[in-house]
Amino acid sequence: MNADLPAFDDLSLGLGGVPIAPPDFRSGFVGIIGRPNVGKSTLMNALVGQKIAITSPTAQTTRNRLKGILTTPEAQIIFVDTPGIHKPHHKLGEVLVKNAQMAIHAVDLLVFVVDASTELGGGDRFIADLLNQTDVPVILGLNKADQQAESDQAYDRGYLELAATRGWHTAKFSALTGAGLDSLQTQLIANLEEGPYYYPPDLITDQPERFIMGELIREQILHLTREEVPHSVAIAIEKVSEEEKITRVFATIHVERDSQKGIIIGKKGAMLKTIGTEARQQMQKLIEGKIDLQLFVKVQPKWRQSRTRLAELGYRVETE
Ligand code: GDP
Ligand code: MG
Repeated sequence: MNADLPAFDDLSLGLGGVPIAPPDFRSGFVGIIGRPNVGKSTLMNALVGQKIAITSPTAQTTRNRLKGILTTPEAQIIFVDTPGIHKPHHKLGEVLVKNAQMAIHAVDLLVFVVDASTELGGGDRFIADLLNQTDVPVILGLNKADQQAESDQAYDRGYLELAATRGWHTAKFSALTGAGLDSLQTQLIANLEEGPYYYPPDLITDQPERFIMGELIREQILHLTREEVPHSVAIAIEKVSEEEKITRVFATIHVERDSQKGIIIGKKGAMLKTIGTEARQQMQKLIEGKIDLQLFVKVQPKWRQSRTRLAELGYRVETE
């Protein structure tokens, strides 16, 4: 959806190459919240038009706050994808919840995403209650419209009633097929105030390429290994060296236990090879060039419990 960018020479350039916004230009930060698996990351990727947040059929994919930037001729929207709000089990869980709660306050508009193919439930109500703490306007987004059987459409009523009692806007769409996203985008822009360009118009994420690369590796681990492994994994991109025809990437997969290392490496290294091949293909789309990916696996006990280790591995542990 980033296709209709104004040509750079039409815009007067301000500091750091960020253009000066024309009058009436709208901009702002939009938080995407909701319980795990409702399609927050899929929605952000679809709106931004490129895959920057990893998605998966298992819950709890997104860890760091990740911004996706959509620039159109009339507006710049900076989406903040937040980790799913859930009850903390250990340190990493606490960090996720804290970051998500902070995101509610640090934005201009919130999209509260729900899964319209299931009935309004306790998880959604928990988040709805958190939203009592904020004055930020909310759009309740009924996602997975494509997955709604005819009988499921009765679920809409519960969501729409919730929105009506809170004075929230509503939108219905499918982040997967794209149906309804144009009108969501119009609604988002209408709810933002006039404002500047925060980022250059051609930027789609605030995260460095290295971070996205690590996420693409982690995504393959989520897809390919057993339940217990993915949440114990952290990826460090050790080195990226750009040669004339190829970019070489060296990455370490940190796990907590020997058994997890075994699963990731697989029989005769077969699993690691598959992870590498799949991740490399995704990365090549990101940089539009050839990549040689070298993966290493290292056991790093209890990294999730340690704030210092979390920080070293690239998790932003935010504090008030
Ligand atoms: P998050 O945890 O809220 O960020 O959810 P994800 O974006 O990772 O999506 C969770 C799962 O739901 C993935 O398997 C997505 O492909 C799927 N999903 C997301 N949006 C839709 C949608 O509009 N329709 C359908 N059928 N599936 C969706
Ligand atoms: Mg996500």
